[in-house]
Amino acid sequence: MTNNHNKKSVRKEIYVVAVIFGILFISMIVYFLRFLLFDSREFIYNSYNSRFSVFADDVVRGPIYTADGRAMAKTTKDDEGNEVRVYPDERLFSHAVGYVGHGMAGLESSYSFDLLKSHISLSDQINNSLTGRKSMGDSLYTTLNYDAQKAAYDGLGMFDGAVIAIDPETGKVVAMVSKPDYNPNTIDKYWDDINDTEKGDSALLNRAANGAYPPGSTFKIVTTLAYLRDGNSSSDFSYKCDGKFLVDDYTIHCSGNKSHGQEDLLKAFSNSCNSAYASIGVELDRDIFQSTAEDLLFNKSLPTMLNGAKASKFKINKDTKESIVAQTAIGQGKTTVSPLHMCMLVSSIANDGALMEPYLVDRIISDDGEVVSETEPALYGQIMSSKEAELLEEYMEAVVTDGTAEKVNFGDLKVYGKTGTAEYTENKKITHSWFVGYAINDNGKKLAIAVIMEGAGYGSKYAAPLAADVFKAYLGN
Ligand SMILES: [Zn+2]
Repeated sequence: MTNNHNKKSVRKEIYVVAVIFGILFISMIVYFLRFLLFDSREFIYNSYNSRFSVFADDVVRGPIYTADGRAMAKTTKDDEGNEVRVYPDERLFSHAVGYVGHGMAGLESSYSFDLLKSHISLSDQINNSLTGRKSMGDSLYTTLNYDAQKAAYDGLGMFDGAVIAIDPETGKVVAMVSKPDYNPNTIDKYWDDINDTEKGDSALLNRAANGAYPPGSTFKIVTTLAYLRDGNSSSDFSYKCDGKFLVDDYTIHCSGNKSHGQEDLLKAFSNSCNSAYASIGVELDRDIFQSTAEDLLFNKSLPTMLNGAKASKFKINKDTKESIVAQTAIGQGKTTVSPLHMCMLVSSIANDGALMEPYLVDRIISDDGEVVSETEPALYGQIMSSKEAELLEEYMEAVVTDGTAEKVNFGDLKVYGKTGTAEYTENKKITHSWFVGYAINDNGKKLAIAVIMEGAGYGSKYAAPLAADVFKAYLGN
């Protein structure tokens, strides 16, 4: 009896110990697996203050690279052994990469979850945890190209404005620059200055994606398409320009008061003749003008994973004054666009009317070199027919061979574009300089671009040469 009783009690003890070990084992597995299992981004973001710090206790924030493998952001240690986020190229990638410090912005914000997640082998993660070491977070490989970004950045120089360049066949964002900018390394130190909205230069705003500018003559692309959709053929148009167009006691002038003389539609486009396009505007069916703009994504949120991409604004209806319609047709009036949107528009022309959704992150890679996820290019849809795209391409070619951008040196590249000079104050002498278009090299590689330089003047003098530099940097000369 005693023996049996002892046996029973020993068995009970073994059982209790086994259960305790079982529970411990399961808790340990759950503890190690929580980063792998816990994939609820929304929850993490909603309460990021507390949750991110839990992740950062175990994982070193991963680096962010250009497509060509240059670190744009990485985590190092200072002399006292504290982790520091470092941006080796300082201002060059500021709006694309963003910052961590005073809150977060850019990719640092939208991919914070991924950067603080480690997909190194489970055994290494467990080993690191047991020895009190942190695991290395995953890396972001972006679509940005260093040379293109540098050409865009240097080209803007001291001007405020934006450059965005996209591969039309995939939607990869190859360059994205916005000025004024900031140095993400010192954002904490200069936060009050940078964030001082009173000064009005809003360095934190990514003008490439979120700017709202008058499109100027780049909008003649839209007006041309509306003219064709209004039942006209390109050969129908004939106009004699004497340098001005009068509507409702309002006079629209051609650039430099130049008289362009007799023009067909192609000539009016490549000369960027304001009088001819104002005459088109007042004749256009207003519903067709409005619906054409909306087919081209005006008044719509843009299909892209770029943060906060701003919707462009366009409004014409039966109550709009004729002088406003005429101004709208030449890209003045109340229309506003973002450089990103204009770049998407010309991307679709370069891609037979098909618009690819712009994206900035190509893949996420673990510190072991394993691919964690990869972005597949996504087709948004056909925003114009391939026939319409072909015609606009022909017109945009004439701008470069025989029009407002004919003096710009694009090297050996085949280039299609539209210049713009947009008035934005009562003082018509101060204008924004625009260029939108695309280039193709001998291998068939393409790049679309939108450039705006605030207050710089003629598009052909400033924005178009900048575009040429970016094309050459990415596509070769
Ligand atoms: Zn003219």
